[in-house]
Amino acid sequence: MTATTGDDEPRKPLIAGNWKMHHDHFTAIQYTQKLSYLLTEDDYELVDVVLCPPFTDIRSVQTTLESDEIPIALGAQNCYFEKEGAFTGEVSPLMLAKLNVSYVIVGHSERRQFFAETDDVVNRKVRAVIANGMTPIACVGETLEEREAGGTDSKVSSQVVNAFDGVKKVDVSASVVAYEPIWAIGTGRTATPEDAEVTIAVIRAALAERFDGATADAVRIQYGGSAKPGNAAELMGRPGIDGLLVGGASLDPEDFGRIIRYGST
Ligand code: PEP
Repeated sequence: MTATTGDDEPRKPLIAGNWKMHHDHFTAIQYTQKLSYLLTEDDYELVDVVLCPPFTDIRSVQTTLESDEIPIALGAQNCYFEKEGAFTGEVSPLMLAKLNVSYVIVGHSERRQFFAETDDVVNRKVRAVIANGMTPIACVGETLEEREAGGTDSKVSSQVVNAFDGVKKVDVSASVVAYEPIWAIGTGRTATPEDAEVTIAVIRAALAERFDGATADAVRIQYGGSAKPGNAAELMGRPGIDGLLVGGASLDPEDFGRIIRYGST
C-alpha cells in the first residue's frame, strides 16, 4: 500500500536494512551484488531500498552500487554532528556525504542505550545530517516499562518533537522517522500491526501539532522491530506505515529481498 499525503502526494515506501555491527567489506560486496540480482525494476518502482552498512563497508558498498548502477540508496548507522576536529573515533556527516551516503540513522535505541545519546545529541545530529544534504532516519520508541505504564504516546511524541527542534518545515517533510518500540528490537517480538499503526499516527499528530498538517503528512514513518518476511505484508498493509527499518532480517539478502517484496519471493 502506498500511503498518501494531505496533498494526495503518495509517500513512497522506504525499506532500510540496518546491518548493525555485521558484515566486513568483503561480505558486504557479495551481499550487495546478491540483493541486486534478486530485485527487479518493478521492485524499485514500488519501494525505495536503503542499505545501512557499518562505516568500514560504506566505500565498498558505494562503489558496488555505482559501478553496477544498482538503484539502492546508501545509508549510515550514525554520525557525529561536527564537521571536523579533535573528536577521536567519530565520523562526520561531511565525510559520509562525500561517499554519496543519502540516509543516516540517528538516535537508534542502541545508540541511546549503550552510547548515552540524549534527545539533544539526536537533535544536533539530525540538523547536521540535513545541513550536509542527507536525510535523517530519526528513531523513536518506548521501553517495555514505559509501554506498560501507559507512557508510549508521550515518549514518542517528545522524542520526535525534540529530534526536529529548530529544523525548517521543508526539511522535516523530507525526513524519515522510524518508530521502533525498544522491546521489539532484536527480540523476535513485533508490535502488532494495529499497535504500530496507532503509535505512528500519534507520531504524525505530534509533528502536525509542532509544525503543521502538510509537513507531518509528507514525513515517511517506518516501523522497526523484528520485521521479517512473514510479517512484512501485514505491517506494510496498515495505513500510515510507510516502510520498515529492518535489523536482523536484513543480514541475509534473500530474507531482505523478500521483505522488500512484502513477504513474497
Ligand atoms: C533495528 O535495529 O533497527 C531493528 C529494528 O532490529 P530488528 O529488526 O533486529 O529488531
